[in-house]
Amino acid sequence: MLHFNDAPEKAKRIFSRLVEEFEKFNINPTPLNYYVWYQYLKGENPQFRQEMDQIINDEYGYNDRDGRRLYDEYLSEEQEASSEFDRAFRRLVNLMIQKMNTWSDKLEAQTQQLDDCARSLNEPNLGSDELRRITDTMISTAHSINESNRAFQQEMLNNSEEVKKLRGELIAAQTAALTDELTEIGNRKAFNNALQELMLDAAAKPESLCLILSDIDHFKKFNDTYGHLIGDSVLRYYANIIKKEQGKNETVCRYGGEEFAILLSDTSLEGAKVRAENIRSAIEAATLKRKNSNEPLTKITASFGIAHYHGESDTAEEFINRADKALYEAKRQGRNRVLDELDLTETQQ
Ligand code: GH3
Ligand code: MG
Ligand code: MG
Repeated sequence: MLHFNDAPEKAKRIFSRLVEEFEKFNINPTPLNYYVWYQYLKGENPQFRQEMDQIINDEYGYNDRDGRRLYDEYLSEEQEASSEFDRAFRRLVNLMIQKMNTWSDKLEAQTQQLDDCARSLNEPNLGSDELRRITDTMISTAHSINESNRAFQQEMLNNSEEVKKLRGELIAAQTAALTDELTEIGNRKAFNNALQELMLDAAAKPESLCLILSDIDHFKKFNDTYGHLIGDSVLRYYANIIKKEQGKNETVCRYGGEEFAILLSDTSLEGAKVRAENIRSAIEAATLKRKNSNEPLTKITASFGIAHYHGESDTAEEFINRADKALYEAKRQGRNRVLDELDLTETQQ
């Protein structure tokens, strides 16, 4: 069983994990169950975790009643909820528990009524009228229990809908947190996340993951000449050039101010070089104009540095550093060019 910490960016993963676990163990998708399993996957309370492990591994497995008991025992008095995700869940669960209490009070009253009837049936010398009255009560109580159950199930379903909605909202919030507002491509955080995952995937097949870092040439001067707003449109334009040809195996991000990064999995250094060269020539060929006056602006060019991942012994820092050095060398050699880490070794020799 995997355990996750409470970093908000993990929430999406926890959620898909929850959905998988729920299907695997045939668990009802109620908010309370979601909350209990979420806390379990987070794995912060060892005693609670141990008990859940036992329940899951015993022959009957986990059921709603276990969930309710574990919630009362370990989770209801928990300290202040620690994240937005926790708080949203807590709101939903509290609502659900209120409803469950109402239903269980109702059910208890109905069960009590059945008990009373059963007891009356044991009394000696019951007349036929009395007998009919008792059986009628039993039948109508049984009907209303059935009705209550159906209504209760409906409430449960409605709450599953709320959970789905919450999941949607959560994923939207996550996406926003990983998107650069200006260019609408991934931000630095998205880059870091993707890099970590892709490095894990590529550990066993070194030199299949490449990084292109690009940096717009003399952009400060461009801003000084035309102002930041036009500078911003150029950044959007440049991001669109990159996005337009984005392949399935590529992660495209704004790495910083006027620096962009592309991670390419299952791509050789040669392949990455071709991709970078295409972007370089596309931006060089572009004719930029002022929107209202159509006045042409000075040409924009960019420089590129490429590295490939060397496998398990390589680190993210060294990997980025090699691409950065190649980029620096491209700038040093006169800008508007693409260099890779092998060119770097040659120039240093
Ligand atoms: P070089 O060719 O060496 O890269 O020169 P440069 O002027 O591009 O490099 P430098 O790093 O000195 O300047 C980067 C400039 O990018 C500084 C800043 O004005 C501009 N910049 C960074 N972020 C933004 C942004 O969000 N919008 C705009 N308009 N400009 C930005
Ligand atoms: Mg720069
Ligand atoms: Mg620059």
